Amino acid sequence: MICLGVEATAHTFGVAVVDGKGRVLSNERDTYRPKKGWGIVPMDARNHHEEKASKVMEAALKKAGKAMEDVDIIAFSQGPGLPPCLYAGMNFSVELAKKTKKPLLGVNHCIAHIEIGRLTTKLKDPVTLYVSGANTQIIAHAAGKYRIFGETQDIGIGNALDKFGREAGLTFPYGPEIEKHASGGRWIGLPYVVKGMDLSFSGIVTEAIKRREKGEKLKDVCFSIQETMFAMVTEVIERALAHTGKSEVMLTGGVAANKRLQEMIEIMCRERGARSASVPWEYCGDNAAMIAWTGIIAHRAKQKPLNLKKAEVLPRWRTDQVDADWV
Ligand code: AMP
Ligand code: MG
Repeated sequence: MICLGVEATAHTFGVAVVDGKGRVLSNERDTYRPKKGWGIVPMDARNHHEEKASKVMEAALKKAGKAMEDVDIIAFSQGPGLPPCLYAGMNFSVELAKKTKKPLLGVNHCIAHIEIGRLTTKLKDPVTLYVSGANTQIIAHAAGKYRIFGETQDIGIGNALDKFGREAGLTFPYGPEIEKHASGGRWIGLPYVVKGMDLSFSGIVTEAIKRREKGEKLKDVCFSIQETMFAMVTEVIERALAHTGKSEVMLTGGVAANKRLQEMIEIMCRERGARSASVPWEYCGDNAAMIAWTGIIAHRAKQKPLNLKKAEVLPRWRTDQVDADWV
């Protein structure tokens, strides 16, 4: 079984070819870069994706040593994401499915992050921390679905760091820059915002910017923003572990690259006799291999192909709306 996957929920347009044994035969991508000082402009991202789509697909097939005739199913990221980007991915996939007469499956982007993580880390049933630009969710499987145990009530942790980095005059990409500046910083105390199992980041960013304007050192604010936000997510993960009785934690999304975040979660896991692992970098950010692999899983779980005439994008599709009884 060979699946061709298409990813286009935000900044990345990707195409990958994966086989039924979970071997990634190719994983190509082209990423839209906003102009300096800007975030993603959705229509610009869409134009980028439309422009690059064919080239990325050809590269993916070539690298995999496959032709479209070898492909059994096509899967694409149906949501959640920015609507213009999702349409670019869907329109491309629908056209391809029509032309080649292959079944087309819609895949949930967040679940795909978890499934490629389970494949590559070998964790079986983890509590997942999904921390990307736009997303911050603590997810675990329970009673047939991936349930969201905690999530941000406003912006994602990556976007929070990016906003602070931009205001502080750092250069893109802001997350790794903040991590560098945080080294040797001193704790200055910032609001710590955990509400039940949910989190909020935007107020912390506002306060951090104010503190900087009032003359606190950059390294101290960078240190403190990291310590505060990462401690918040670590607290919620620990409670999710306690509640579910699980003993594994998986980190994924762009922010999972942060060494201090990894360290905090490792310490917490060690103290409870649990185990943690980060998804390898290539599969941590948005990529199409995760979509192709989840397409194979969904196909095996008997998910029906889409009616190409009625296919729609699902910008607000939640993790817990998918029946994931394959776990
Ligand atoms: P994604 O949306 O999964 O592609 O992840 C992008 C986000 O990850 C951006 O908000 C980056 O600032 C953030 N990021 C990348 N590397 C790091 C890092 N080392 N520390 C913190 N955030 C990071
Ligand atoms: Mg993502």
